[in-house]
Amino acid sequence: MTTPTADRVTLVEVGPRDGFQGIAPFIPTATKIDFVRRLAAAGLDRIEAGSFVSPSAVPQLRDAAEMFAACRTIPELRPQFLVPNARWGTTALAAGVDFLAFVVSVSEAHNRNNVRRHPLESVAEYIRLIDACPEGVDMRLNLATAFDCPFAGRIDEREVIDLLGPLVAVRPTAEVCLCDTTGKASPDHVAGLFELARAAFPTVERWAFHAHDTYGLGLADVYAAWTRGVRIFDAAFAGLGGCPFAPGATGNVATEDVVFMFERMGVATGVDLDELLSIACDGTVIPGAAAGGRVRAALTGSRSPSCGS
Ligand code: ZN
Repeated sequence: MTTPTADRVTLVEVGPRDGFQGIAPFIPTATKIDFVRRLAAAGLDRIEAGSFVSPSAVPQLRDAAEMFAACRTIPELRPQFLVPNARWGTTALAAGVDFLAFVVSVSEAHNRNNVRRHPLESVAEYIRLIDACPEGVDMRLNLATAFDCPFAGRIDEREVIDLLGPLVAVRPTAEVCLCDTTGKASPDHVAGLFELARAAFPTVERWAFHAHDTYGLGLADVYAAWTRGVRIFDAAFAGLGGCPFAPGATGNVATEDVVFMFERMGVATGVDLDELLSIACDGTVIPGAAAGGRVRAALTGSRSPSCGS
């Protein structure tokens, strides 16, 4: 993995987890693996490829162990897997996963809905998980509803900082991602919260941002985070995604849109946009998928049947 700088950003492709999880018809594991292989070959060397989670809660992601086994064979790929609690975290560790993403919602209502716990119980789960992590396992901390919650509305910045305190303390080297779960965060809100969080936790070296494009603010928010020093961004090819536990939260920001914007700014992404567009076009025709984003249609509308206007 290349270290992100002002001239270079790291994109984390979350389509195979966040994008796929809300799609009802099961996507054959071989199809998922093929997408991961192609995305990695297009230059996306960080991919969230699944989640170790109850198969009854998220049936689409029940093949996490097979996905991990396949990811291991892809050179250069750094796969990460999402876990909702310590129990599933240890299952992932036992499978050999060495990059976990742990999710906790700032909003109590969302956390209860998502992982059936108070946020402080999730903090305790995280501490247990860190205790169970062998040396060399990397950790990403996803703070869902860091800006807005489908149940509680706008989230006070103070709540985010307060929840981050004990989480950062237990593993100061973890990557911290602030997630705009509903897509309602405005660019000034994104810039303001990252400014506050970076000042409050100067030891955190890796800040990431997870944008949704539900209200058309995705790219503006990504740019706002970038102006505040964030260099790691989640995105999903074809703009797939949304959270089944966040009503109305459709559409992660499309990876091809983010790549297009940064490359136009002279900021390298390491991603081959032509290759990515071809993968994104195939993503739009996955049965049950709802695609988003703009760049795909603009650049391929006239030459790809699956991306027609
Ligand atoms: Zn998302």
